[in-house]
Amino acid sequence: MDLRQEVRAFARTHLLDGPPDLASRTAAWHAAGLANWWLPVEHGGRGLSLREGVDVVDELAYADAGFAFSSLVGVIGSTLVDLYGDDRLRAEVLGDLGRDGGFFATAVTERDAGSELDRLQTTAVPKGDTVVVTGEKLFSTNADRARYLLVVARHEAGAADQPHVAVVVPRDADGVAVSEPWRTTGLTGSPVHRVALADCAVPTGHVLDGHGLRLLEVGLNASRVLIAATAVGMARRIRDLCLDFAGRRRLRDGVLGKHPLFADKMAQVEVEIETMRSQCRAAAADYDAVRDDPDAARRFARRGALKSALVAKVFCGQAGWRVASTGSEVFGGLGYTDEVPIGALMRDMRHVSLVEGGEDVLRDVVYRRFTAPPVRRA
Ligand SMILES: Cc1cc2nc3c(=O)[nH]c(=O)nc-3n(C[C@H](O)[C@H](O)[C@H](O)COP(=O)(O)OP(=O)(O)OC[C@H]3O[C@@H](n4cnc5c(N)ncnc54)[C@H](O)[C@@H]3O)c2cc1C
Repeated sequence: MDLRQEVRAFARTHLLDGPPDLASRTAAWHAAGLANWWLPVEHGGRGLSLREGVDVVDELAYADAGFAFSSLVGVIGSTLVDLYGDDRLRAEVLGDLGRDGGFFATAVTERDAGSELDRLQTTAVPKGDTVVVTGEKLFSTNADRARYLLVVARHEAGAADQPHVAVVVPRDADGVAVSEPWRTTGLTGSPVHRVALADCAVPTGHVLDGHGLRLLEVGLNASRVLIAATAVGMARRIRDLCLDFAGRRRLRDGVLGKHPLFADKMAQVEVEIETMRSQCRAAAADYDAVRDDPDAARRFARRGALKSALVAKVFCGQAGWRVASTGSEVFGGLGYTDEVPIGALMRDMRHVSLVEGGEDVLRDVVYRRFTAPPVRRA
């Protein structure tokens, strides 16, 4: 069985047809050997490339975008530990995640610092052979069930060129308090929490090597491409639901599925899906080319956010939203009820252009880094 078929079989059994129970789905995903699929083989992972990860996420999101999102976000912290952690931290953290299929949450966003991360208020203060982290994080997916949290904080003793640090905080460290999950509009299969850190001391070896915000940009390259890939899976599901509905919906002169207006809509949906998929695959190949280089840590740190990853996320957010809107139109009034899953898919689709940098803000980054005349680039 190839990878796509393997994930599709899992998604059908456990997500489309199985009970909506987070714990049993997560256990089944680990038992299938697919949890944290990007982890190197020597740490117990499958060692899949980002290009392969795009197919994994596309298949999962077809069935449940929340499960797909929860399964992919750990790529940020674990990739950063692999690239910028010391040998001891790498062996401990990646070994744990490979063995248990556990979660690595990211806790960065604060109430007044989501897209504008230089406004973060959480602090990391060196004290002996520890660093003490204190602050309030507004969103952190999987935080409650995570083994580790990646926290980005202001470095109180940091050099001027390194004012922020990225710190790996064990979930069970003293001083970590995780709230009940938010009641979100979509992605209901993905629990997102507030996290309070009160004088939380972790060993200095848990601080990653480099400027915290720059490292975060590196980690987000992988997750942004995978978030874009959720839009492909959701759009395919919307297309299939529309085809199924239109084959049954009677009109004055036949069924909706045979009407040229419907064919025109679906052709446009197919164009959107194919273009989204191509962009995700191209961005993933771009990322893999750097990731496979023995000098990847330095090359990524020099480049920060990759243009192709930003473009994939912005484009898939927009195209996915157009597909969701078409889906809602095809179902008429029924699409606005909970009798059919179109409304839930629309709400799920919204996350693509929202999380890990809102669309306005990512377009601004694209302009400042890649489009503005070279002398004015950030
Ligand atoms: C389901 C879900 C899961 C999440 N999971 C996590 C997680 O695991 N870890 C984590 O750290 N965070 C997480 N987040 C937070 C998410 O990444 C942020 O919400 C996102 O980055 C947007 O930031 P924001 O909420 O501050 O809104 P902003 O993007 O700041 O937007 C608020 C408004 O301000 C405007 N704006 C912002 N900056 C500028 C600017 N420079 N110029 C002009 N206008 C601007 C925007 O256009 C918008 O109108 C999650 C959020 C959700 C909804």
